[in-house]
Amino acid sequence: MAADIIYGKKLAVKITAQLKDEFTRLKEKFHLTSKLVAVQVGQDAGSNVYLEAQSKLAHELGIEFEKKIFPDDISFNDLKVNIEKLNNDSDVDGIILMQPVPGDFDFEELILKIMPLKDVEGLHPQNLGKIVLATSDVVPPTAAAVMAMLDECVKEYKGREVVMIGHSPIVGKPLVLLLADKLATVRFCHIGTSIADKLQAHVREADILIVATGVSHLVKGDWIKIGAVVIDVGISKSGDKIVGDVEFEKACQRASCISPVPGGVGPVTTVMLMKNLLSVFKKRRDIKI
Ligand code: NAD
Repeated sequence: MAADIIYGKKLAVKITAQLKDEFTRLKEKFHLTSKLVAVQVGQDAGSNVYLEAQSKLAHELGIEFEKKIFPDDISFNDLKVNIEKLNNDSDVDGIILMQPVPGDFDFEELILKIMPLKDVEGLHPQNLGKIVLATSDVVPPTAAAVMAMLDECVKEYKGREVVMIGHSPIVGKPLVLLLADKLATVRFCHIGTSIADKLQAHVREADILIVATGVSHLVKGDWIKIGAVVIDVGISKSGDKIVGDVEFEKACQRASCISPVPGGVGPVTTVMLMKNLLSVFKKRRDIKI
């Protein structure tokens, strides 16, 4: 069996076109342009790449995008004051706090400072909590990207065996809840599962496998159940190559659908951030259409 490849770029183009239509319609009807502000402290090569991608996509969608770059030596308090200013600025619809922040800054405390209605990364406990209640407006973009990719090839979730590997708050934890709400049977694996030497046994049962660990080729190709859908979120370096958490070539021989790394979840993630922006933009202005 040769798996269908779920190309992130192709899906990103499709969702971008839908978002562009909606942003354009809102601009025409209400004469409103949405604005996204990314807050960064100092310079970081990784976050500069992500910022560039956000800026390019915002431009394509007709969204105003502002980078607020603060010096390395900004105090924790001044940073909080600046976030507060963005909360109070009625022109600002969404706020992103880029990581990393200086080592002695409490990232969680800064996230708590962002008004939940402007938290486009869905990291505020109020937004994460709504996922538990199945009432969320914004889902962390990587988890939302995985759901969008799954929707491309999963017709029915009810009763399917899902194995989620990785339990971070931005990927694994929200996905487990979102998939349980679709009535899938979800097994939640992580480092503890590997320590107990039970990872392979769980993976072998998975109709749907999602892996987000950053451990290159953690999941061997011959563990994959025949016909499984596999989404690989992990990104790591092997020599000068970027690789995922799954042995891609071998997994392709057994899976029915699989996402590649690179070119899989990554491109869809930035688009889902903009989808969150659209959602908070409408919610804050009580626009129902
Ligand atoms: P994380 O780095 O916070 O945590 C890693 C997770 O992997 C933990 O749950 C840990 O228990 C688990 N883990 C580690 N080693 C393991 C092992 N040997 N066996 C089983 N589980 C193990 O997680 P994260 O922030 O979700 O990032 C995970 C990966 O996804 C990273 O490679 C990251 O770069 C990538 N990522 C990609 C995107 C994207 O848009 N493509 C977005 C976010 C994260």
